[in-house]
This record gives sequence, C-alpha cells and structure tokens, in this order.
Amino acid sequence: MAKVLVTGATGFIAGHVILQLLEAGHEVRGTARSASRATPLNTILGDYSGKPVNIEIVEADLNSDAGWAEAVAGMDYVQHVASPFAAVMPRDHDELIRPARDGALRVLKAAKAAGVKRVVMTSSMAAIAYGWGDARPNPLTEEHWSNSDNLKDNTAYTRSKTIAERAAWDYMAGEGKGMELSVINPSAVLGPAMSRDLSTSLEIITQLMTGKAPASPRVGFCVVDVRDVADAHVKAMTVPEAAGERFLASGRFMWMSEVADVLRESFPDYRKKLPRGELPDWLLKMMTLINPPLKAIVPELGRERHCSNEKAQRVLGWRPRMEEEAIIEGARSLIDLNVI
Ligand code: NDP
Repeated sequence: MAKVLVTGATGFIAGHVILQLLEAGHEVRGTARSASRATPLNTILGDYSGKPVNIEIVEADLNSDAGWAEAVAGMDYVQHVASPFAAVMPRDHDELIRPARDGALRVLKAAKAAGVKRVVMTSSMAAIAYGWGDARPNPLTEEHWSNSDNLKDNTAYTRSKTIAERAAWDYMAGEGKGMELSVINPSAVLGPAMSRDLSTSLEIITQLMTGKAPASPRVGFCVVDVRDVADAHVKAMTVPEAAGERFLASGRFMWMSEVADVLRESFPDYRKKLPRGELPDWLLKMMTLINPPLKAIVPELGRERHCSNEKAQRVLGWRPRMEEEAIIEGARSLIDLNVI
C-alpha cells in the first residue's frame, strides 16, 4: 500500500486511475483546479464504483506554482494525468503547450523535492504518431517521436503532448536524476464515462449517436478502453522494468464508419441517427464552409496511424479488452448519463 497523488483528478482517465488505485489498497490524494470539486468528485467516484469514496483534493493549476508542494508532500508516487485536452484548437498553440509542458515540469520538480519514488505521466500517442507526413512508420512504436515542428501534420494539442513529454524526459536526464519516470501514451480513449463532464475523446461517440453527420468522414483512430489505460498507469507505477520507459496503450485502428457499425449493431434505437457509409472527402471539405470546426479533421482524411502495444504487453503484462467493448460501454454510459 502506497500514497499516490493523481493530478487532474476530475478527468475521465484520472477517475478510473483513482478507482483502480483505491481498489488495489493505495491511499489516494488528488489535485483539481478548484477544491470545491472535491465533494462532487467523491460522489461521482462513489456512485460509479458502488463504494464510498473520500479522497482529499488539493487545489493546483498547471499554470501556477501554488499548491504543488502541498499536493506532493508525503507521497510515494505521482500519477500526472492533468493536461489541457480541448475539442477546439486555440489559434495560439502556447495556450495548450504552456500548461502541458510547464505544468509537467512543475509536477516533476515538486515530486523530486518531496522524495517521490516514481512519477507516471500521461502523454499520448500524439507524442509518437504526428509530424511524419508520408514517412509515418507502420506500426508506430515507443521508439518513434512526433515531429512537433511539422505544422501540417500536427495540432496545438498534439504539439503540446510531444513538447511536454520531451521536456519531462529532458528534466529526468538532468535535475530529475534519482527519481523514476514512466510514461503512458494512450490512443483514442473510449469506455465508460462517470459524469456528464466529458473528455474530448468521447465526442467520437456523441457525434455519431446524436445524428450530427449523415455519413462518417474518412477518419480513424486506434481505440482503447479507459479502464485498460488506467490499468497501464497502475502497472507502470510499480513494475520495476517500467522505470525510464514509455508505453503505447493502444488498441487497433478503426475507421469512424466501423465505430458507427459497432454502435448500430448494439443500439438499435439509435440506428436512424447513426451515419451510414462514408462521407466523400470533397463533401466534408464543402461542409467546412458552413461548419468551420470541421476544418480540424480535414488533414486527417484517409490517414491511418497504426500502433503496436507489444511493449506494454511484454513489460507491463498489459492485456487490453476488445475495442468493441470500449465503444459499447462508452455509449452505454452516455445513454445512462442522459448525454445522448
Ligand atoms: P479530461 O478533459 O477528462 O481531463 C483533463 C484533466 O486535466 C482535467 O482534470 C482538467 O481539469 C485537467 N486540466 C486541464 N488543464 C489544467 C490546468 N491548467 N491545470 C490543472 N489541471 C488541468 O481528459 P482525459 O481524461 O481524456 O485526459 C487526461 C490526460 O490523458 C490528458 O493528459 C490527455 O492529454 C491524455 N490523453 C487522453 C486521451 C483521450 O483520448 N482521452 C488520449 C491520449 C492522451 P478540469 O476538470 O479543471 O478541467
């Protein structure tokens, strides 16, 4: 049993990490941008798990030094999950890069000063699979790094994740020596939501099930279940060989139309709303004229980014469930929460 700090405790992935840590017998403290979220969060976690939850919440923002020393005091491990994950990309990339990178460094420095043994940081497949242009390796592995300077094959978010993870490893190679770092790089995370405060990744399901598109755009992603992503975080905390390593926590690549097919099969009541077939690329480009946020997916049209999870399986003993389960359980939770 250890004392573990989870940053960004209010988030989708963090909630599952917290519950799995508690289930394993660890004592958990969380951070949130506002301490007023402590009571609602404990209620949400308790309702989802069916057991009372009462974790302490310390107020800390990635953009400020305040609170981090108090948050890490007395902790054996830190799960650094917090990072801005916006649906709409800001024009100024620094709006995401600054909190992601500087926040990670704040957490690492505070952890080092407090004598924390190991930090597990949530990076992303975004730090591996972007900026390659047509030279993208297949499959992508932990050996690969995104090129955040190639703006044609990156967003503010993918750049923020790459730059933050690089900064973390650079810190560990210098001032951070003596502490351990392990990084988890998840792909598109689906699976059960606990509250209506949804992660951007669950938009994949809400967009499909609320009839927003007549047909699926030709985009796709590697799908993984949030419960398996949390499991990878917990394993990376204690498996000795995980120190100094990054791990892709990813399932197989699926086109949006395949995700829609899985939903159609499992939720007959939503069949009429779910898109049928694929939207021609030219039509989607036309649609950006009346719906500018769609521009964000134009560079992704037809792009396949395949990942290997062989390392997580081999080193962590990670065994993710089928992608279909992540899709179905994610949708079921959104129905139960009256989101869709
Ligand atoms: P959520 O949006 O649910 O969680 C993000 C968390 O980060 C929230 O708790 C949020 O706090 C916190 N946060 C954001 N900005 C700040 C800030 N300035 N200071 C302190 N906390 C902040 O998303 P997920 O759970 O999906 O994402 C968690 C992590 O996983 C992120 O690092 C994300 O990049 C990464 N990831 C997610 C993937 C996915 O598909 N979901 C895929 C790969 C990586 P608040 O509640 O106050 O907004």
